[in-house]
Amino acid sequence: MDQSSSASTGTSEADDTVSQNQHSPRRADKKRRRHRSKDAGAAEVNGHSSRSAKRRASLSKAARDPLDEPTGKKSKKRKSSASAAAAAPAAESTIITRSPSPLIDFDGLSRPSRGTRERLEESPEQAAVRLEKMRGAVRTILECIGEDPDREGILDTPARYAKALLFFTKGYQQNVKDIVNNAIFHEGHNEMVIVKDIEIFSMCEHHLVPFNGKMHIGYIPRDNVIGLSKLPRIAEMFSRRLQVQERLTREVANTIMEVLKPQGVAVVMESSHLCMVMRGVEKTTTSTLTSCVLGCFEKKEKTRNEFFSLVGLTRR
Ligand SMILES: [Zn+2]
Repeated sequence: MDQSSSASTGTSEADDTVSQNQHSPRRADKKRRRHRSKDAGAAEVNGHSSRSAKRRASLSKAARDPLDEPTGKKSKKRKSSASAAAAAPAAESTIITRSPSPLIDFDGLSRPSRGTRERLEESPEQAAVRLEKMRGAVRTILECIGEDPDREGILDTPARYAKALLFFTKGYQQNVKDIVNNAIFHEGHNEMVIVKDIEIFSMCEHHLVPFNGKMHIGYIPRDNVIGLSKLPRIAEMFSRRLQVQERLTREVANTIMEVLKPQGVAVVMESSHLCMVMRGVEKTTTSTLTSCVLGCFEKKEKTRNEFFSLVGLTRR
């Protein structure tokens, strides 16, 4: 009630005093809004949500035509937020633990959320139950491939394989926050940083067989640098999950973009997939190359080429 009345007085004031300029500020505001939505889009892509939020705040402080205030939308928003707050304070805990980024698995819980959470929070008893279940499953597989699971040589293989598989996928129990552990330092350094030849062992999610290779990570800081050992550890975390190489490359790049907010990130990976070289096409020399370039690496060909030549890849 109060809002609507104050809005209407604002309108009449505007009508009376600035009838001539009435249209131009509105047009300017439209432009501003267009800019803002563009910014928001870019922010989503690059993960610069906080910075663009700041920018938006300063823009919204500019003089506004009260007519352009989106009162209807505002009240809707207020209603929904109020109802959400009233509905469930219990739901708040799930909101807090949810990943702040739609792009990366920040807290280790976003993919696949249920199973990952169970693994992260399991008790020693639950872990033992999990291992026993897996052991039985591997025993079944041994039977199915025509082996005798009670043969002496492979008697302990189910338990061994279950443990190995849990190790190969230990990334499900890790999260970016713990790995980075605030190792971001203000250095005023703005030149390219590259960590080359990071050894990667991962599991193809389509065939449950390994793929391995090398990853190169480069970034151009925006004053802040990340502890160098953190880059291989981020790569390790995502590679110790069921993966496809394309997503692994992208997840590493997006994570660095998100936690460090540099000018740009480039990640390139070359690897050999056992599902390709051991079966299927059986071309043992094939390697798969994937890359993900963000920020200035995406925008500037020169920067991108510098990275590719520094890591020993000359691509155009
Ligand atoms: Zn595969």
